[in-house]
Amino acid sequence: MSIANIVHHIAGRIVAGTSGRAQDVFDPATGTITGCVALANRTEVDAAVAAAQQAFPAWANTPPIRRARHLFRFLELLNKHHDDLARAITAEHGKVFTDARGEVSRGIDIVEFACGIPQLLKGDYTDQVSTGIDNWTMRQPLGVVAGITPFNFPVMVPMWMFPVAIAAGNTFVLKPSPIDPSPSLMIADLMREAGFPDGVFNVVQGDREAVEALLEHPDVRAVSFVGSTPIAQHIYETGARHGKRVQALGGAKNHMVVMPDADVEKTVDALVGAAYGSAGERCMAISVAVFVGDAGDRIMPVLAERTRKLVIRNGLELDAEMGPIVTRIALDRIEGYIAQGVTEGAQLVVDGRGLTVPDHARGFWLGGTLFDHVTPSMRIYREEIFGPVLACVRVKDLNEAIGLVNAHEFGNGVSCFTQNGHVAREFSRRIEVGMVGINVPIPVPMAWHGFGGWKRSLFGDMHAYGEEGVRFYTKQKSIMQRWPENIGDGAEFVMPTAK
Ligand code: NAD
Repeated sequence: MSIANIVHHIAGRIVAGTSGRAQDVFDPATGTITGCVALANRTEVDAAVAAAQQAFPAWANTPPIRRARHLFRFLELLNKHHDDLARAITAEHGKVFTDARGEVSRGIDIVEFACGIPQLLKGDYTDQVSTGIDNWTMRQPLGVVAGITPFNFPVMVPMWMFPVAIAAGNTFVLKPSPIDPSPSLMIADLMREAGFPDGVFNVVQGDREAVEALLEHPDVRAVSFVGSTPIAQHIYETGARHGKRVQALGGAKNHMVVMPDADVEKTVDALVGAAYGSAGERCMAISVAVFVGDAGDRIMPVLAERTRKLVIRNGLELDAEMGPIVTRIALDRIEGYIAQGVTEGAQLVVDGRGLTVPDHARGFWLGGTLFDHVTPSMRIYREEIFGPVLACVRVKDLNEAIGLVNAHEFGNGVSCFTQNGHVAREFSRRIEVGMVGINVPIPVPMAWHGFGGWKRSLFGDMHAYGEEGVRFYTKQKSIMQRWPENIGDGAEFVMPTAK
């Protein structure tokens, strides 16, 4: 099998790496090397930023409705190549093809939202704030903005960023994860085919060196980051130090609180899908189940049986429920957490280690893993494992459940399964988490609502996409105007007030 050479896309052209640094890309289902991705140095990042900077004035000056028409063409192309993108995701990430299709669809949602940019940029106007004076606000683009994205959604997470940023009149440099970099180049190709001017959307492949170059570059006005919490904090602090606007979305430990009145079968379905879908490598995956009262006694046996029966195979097989872990390093890390959980005294109900998949002996495999009687002091409770490991905790009542969730350092997503409206309302109001699901295990907000966690799951003020996204990628300008007929005589030395 040939090894793909995965390079940069700058100013509308494929650009070979010149740094001399590169990294292998794997198919995690087979464990084979399928590609080699270039890792950009500062000079290559400079070239991408320069291309974006050059494209900015004309793009910012393009009427929003014409910018939107480019997005409509891009949307058509995305729909046409939906399955190609999904296959490319599965090939390097490992998630099952049907899930990868869903990822592409959720990215497409944001493009559809961004097509409405003329409406979103309308601004406000007040006639007659003082006699003969009108005041209005408008929002203008920032300039070159950068997106630094994680491995787990190589299509959707970049699309949380660039469609909104570009629709608002900015130009964009994407630095995708080097673990699954190929979809970024497919996107760049579709953007070119959609007719976006050269330099409006650029891709630099790379690792820490490229990220630091973007963070320090004086022409990069804003940085959107999605990834793990320590890196998110570093991006936020470094970006801010260099005068940039930053939104940095971090890690998670999402709880599902299960009340005693929750339906057992429906709750188990929700738990296995949310804990083991995409091998638990979702920032909105459920990694902790909190059983209230006797809920655990009824749910645990059914949950354990269902976990043992997960259909785990190559994600390209259409009946697969779960694929491999993304890398050997991630697999080792997750197995380390399982060993740690046993050492700490949690009850290992289902052990996913040692799984073999026929004809895929070298793949990065791990079965669904289930712990019961986990306590808040254990590392498997406190830390993000980011794999198919579900930790179950028992509590006596709703108050204890809410207290537990609110005490956790992360606050990305949370869910409550109940049939009681009052419980649902109390839970939604008192929980200190950014995205809440009531009988919805993975409450990823729709494109026009915006995505973001609380506490150490988000550094910055604005959520991704939605109207918060539009605000993040634009700055407000207020204009106050009068005409000579309304200018009185003489200088005024007092603070102007409405007359
Ligand atoms: P990661 O933090 O390792 O990498 C994210 C990005 O940062 C990548 O582009 C990577 O190349 C870059 N990077 C890595 N190390 C760096 C360093 N030392 N300095 C500068 N840049 C660096 O994250 P990942 O493993 O790719 O993705 C999984 C993580 O992302 C999980 O923690 C998950 O919860 C989180 N995530 C969060 C959200 C959210 O919306 N909150 C969404 C998806 C993923």
